[in-house]
Amino acid sequence: MTTGFIGLGQMGAAIAFNIAKAGHPLAVWNRSADKAADLVAGGATLAASPRALGERCNIVMSMLADDAALEAVLSGEDGLLAGLAPGALHVSLSTIAVASADRLADLHRTKGQHFVSAPVFGRPDVAAAGQLAVVAAGDDADIDRAMPLFDAIGRRTFRAGPTPSSANLIKLCGNFMLLSAVEAFAEAMALAEKGGVAKAQLMEVMTGTLFDAAAYRNYGKILVEESYRPAGFAAPLGLKDMRLVSAAAEASRVPMPLLSLLRDHLVETLAKEGEDIDWSGIGLTIAKNAGLSSPPCKGGAGGG
Ligand code: NAP
Repeated sequence: MTTGFIGLGQMGAAIAFNIAKAGHPLAVWNRSADKAADLVAGGATLAASPRALGERCNIVMSMLADDAALEAVLSGEDGLLAGLAPGALHVSLSTIAVASADRLADLHRTKGQHFVSAPVFGRPDVAAAGQLAVVAAGDDADIDRAMPLFDAIGRRTFRAGPTPSSANLIKLCGNFMLLSAVEAFAEAMALAEKGGVAKAQLMEVMTGTLFDAAAYRNYGKILVEESYRPAGFAAPLGLKDMRLVSAAAEASRVPMPLLSLLRDHLVETLAKEGEDIDWSGIGLTIAKNAGLSSPPCKGGAGGG
């Protein structure tokens, strides 16, 4: 049976490629059809609409920018909801709101369709290497059904229980923690640099001792090299995620003062540097706020 894939952006294209590489017959749909060209050249079929894709697949993965994009793809006459047969499974990989995942689960349930929410950790280069960490929540039998696909795209799949939105809550907590790590590292680097210690030196000591973790190694490298363009994870999407964290925190009455600071630094970075900068570009803002002059923003990073 053909697997469907919707959303061929930076992450989706890399993920869909690995699904095809693992030998799963693939049908794809993307709003901008030209992005499907490489996959179609490799044997995938291009569907005319999300509905047409759903009609021919019993399992469809989606990787879209945000809640609004997912809503646009699901709803209406040509939407995925109208195409999927009862019993078919939708696996949503996008980083969306907790409340949206709850709503999606309800929508699919009323149509007799199954839903697993499975947001991922890892930037586009990690996706291309098939090394994502997948956090999947939904019925165990549905996760089992999707497991061959998860194995094709990631190095590890975590099961986060029967409620799909639990996976989104974990993903949002993770992105909050990641940007907090970037903030802390960038502030420390500014302090080190003004005191005459190179950023690379600080990074070598910290990632070799107390902070020997992928988050610090990968983002530390971006901060040291100031490789904020092209963006692997664009700042507007990072801002979207902080907004989703904020909504979840408000709903649960959890004060998160650090979140407000991160949000402001993202907004400041977007205002001063433009929409095409990576979310870790808050490092540039932090350095400039410390009076450090920086060479023009270098390109090259992407991914992580
Ligand atoms: P991206 O490159 O901007 O791709 C976004 C995708 O959404 C494209 O396929 C785009 O279609 C589609 N889209 C946007 N608005 C749409 C609409 N109104 N209707 C239909 N399709 C629409 O973003 P990305 O970096 O791949 O991120 C995708 C998701 O993964 C986001 O939820 C993000 O938070 C999450 N994520 C990203 C990373 C990362 O490092 N980049 C890591 C983990 C998770 P077009 O091609 O037509 O524009």
